Amino acid sequence: MNRCSFCKRSADDVGTLVAGAGVYICDDCVVLCAEAVKNKPAGLKRATPVWEGVDDAALIAHLPRIEAIRHLVDDDLRSWVGEARRRGISWDRVGEALGMRRQSAWERFA
Ligand SMILES: [Zn+2]
Repeated sequence: MNRCSFCKRSADDVGTLVAGAGVYICDDCVVLCAEAVKNKPAGLKRATPVWEGVDDAALIAHLPRIEAIRHLVDDDLRSWVGEARRRGISWDRVGEALGMRRQSAWERFA
């Protein structure tokens, strides 16, 4: 089941789930992101949290969310590699695209 990479709600629980390269975003999170972009302080470029404003509990609570997203991205990469292989694209090309040797690509995805 595909989930929003930002809020973790499943496709069944959101209005629209938009797929990107390895990630998904729901309609509610698109609205939140648009608000954040519209209201961002001038000069603020980075998307990562400002560490000073994140207490230890919030930091620890966020770790499993990142880990869950990592799994989603990994699953998506695996399906894209599977499609590449289904199309007959060689392990050499898959490995080259991922910056790894043919053997490493095969060991990871075969
Ligand atoms: Zn969302």
